[in-house]
Amino acid sequence: MQFRNLNRQYQNLKKEIDSAIQEVLDSSVYIGGEKVKTLERMLADYIGVKHCITCANGTDALQIALICMGIGNGDAVFVPDFTFFASAEAPAILGATPVFVDVDYRTYNIDCMSLEAAIKNIINEGKLIPKVIVSVDLFGLSADYDEIRKIADKYGLLILEDSAQGFGALYKGRHSCSFGDISSTSFFPAKPLGCYGDGGAIFTDNDEYAEKIRSICIHGKGTDKYHNVRLGTNSRLDSLQAAILIEKFRAFVSNELDCINRVARRYNELLSDKVVKPVVSEEYYSSWAQYTIQLRDCLERKEFINYLKMFEIPVNVYYPIPMHRQQAFTGNCIAYNLKTTELLCNKVVSIPIDPYITDDEIQFVTETINSFFDERQI
Ligand SMILES: *Cc1c(COP(=O)(O)O)cnc(C)c1O
Repeated sequence: MQFRNLNRQYQNLKKEIDSAIQEVLDSSVYIGGEKVKTLERMLADYIGVKHCITCANGTDALQIALICMGIGNGDAVFVPDFTFFASAEAPAILGATPVFVDVDYRTYNIDCMSLEAAIKNIINEGKLIPKVIVSVDLFGLSADYDEIRKIADKYGLLILEDSAQGFGALYKGRHSCSFGDISSTSFFPAKPLGCYGDGGAIFTDNDEYAEKIRSICIHGKGTDKYHNVRLGTNSRLDSLQAAILIEKFRAFVSNELDCINRVARRYNELLSDKVVKPVVSEEYYSSWAQYTIQLRDCLERKEFINYLKMFEIPVNVYYPIPMHRQQAFTGNCIAYNLKTTELLCNKVVSIPIDPYITDDEIQFVTETINSFFDERQI
C-alpha cells in the first residue's frame, strides 16, 4: 500500500500521457510554446480568473507574487503557523518579517480572530508595515475568504492565496486560486494536480500584476528577452510538464476530484467515531490533498504510527513543528499566541488517500485504524 499511488494514475492515463510527451519530443519545443499556452488558458478558464502564468514550482510562485507586490525589508507578512515551510520562507527570503498566525482546530486554516489580533499588534508596535496575508488552503480545503477579505480590506492589506494544496477546491461556488489579489499553486507530483517533476502557477485578475509577473519570471524582461527592465529570475514550466499537465488536468476535472471525494466520504463513514475526522463545512468542497486525523497526544500518535506500520500502511505527519519554532526563523519572525498550532503539531497524522485507492484498501485502512482504537478502549 502506498501513501499516494501515482503509478496507478499513470497506468490509467498512460496512452494520453505517453503520446503528449512524444508530441513535445517531436516538436523540439522544450520551453514555452503551444503546450504551455494551452495549459495556462485551460487553468485560467477553470479557475475563473483572467491570467494564469506558469512557473518552475510553487515556492517560486509565492516568491514571484511577493516580488510583484513589492514586499521587502520592514514589511510584515501574516502567515499561518501551521503550514509548509515555503509559505513563510518566501516572504522571509525577500527581507520581510513573517508574523505567524494561529489556525482553526478543525479546518487547519487561518483563524481570523488570531489574524486580526496580530495585525492590530503590528500596527500598535509601529515597527513594521503590515502588507500581505498569505492565506493557505491547507490539505485541499479553502480558507474562509469572506472573513479574510473583510480583514484585508479593513487594514489595507493584500492577499496572497497559497493554494499549493488547494487546487480543485471550492468555496461558496468559487474555485480556490481565485481568492487572492494574487494566488499560487504547485504541481509537485503529490499535490492534488501534480506533474512529473516540479511546476507551479500564479493566478490573478489584475492585468498590471500579470504583466509584471510574466516579466519577473523571465529575468525582468521588457518588450523582449534582451531588454531587461527589472530584476527577476528564471522560472518557467517545461513544455514536457505542460503537456503532461494538460492530460492530467482533463482526468482531474472529469473524474479524479469526484473519486477522491468519494474516498473521503467512505473514510468518514467507515472510520469509528473515536477518530477525529476532517471537517468540510457547507459551502466548501475539498480537493483532499490530505486526509488528516487527530490523536490524543504525541505519545498516542507514535503508537498509532507504529501500529499502522505493522500492517504496512504508510502515514505522514503534516506538520510536526510550528513555523515559529523552525530554526530558520529564530530571531526573524514574530509569534504571538499560537496555542492551537502547538497542539495540532503533536496530534495530527495524515492517512493514505488518492483518487485511485481501491475499495479493498479503504476497507483495510479503516478496519486497521478502528482496531487500534478498539484495542485501546479501557
Ligand atoms: C508544496 C507547497 C508549497 C511549495 O510548492 P513546491 O512546488 O514544492 O515549491 C508551498 N506552500 C504549500 C502550502 C505547499 O504545500
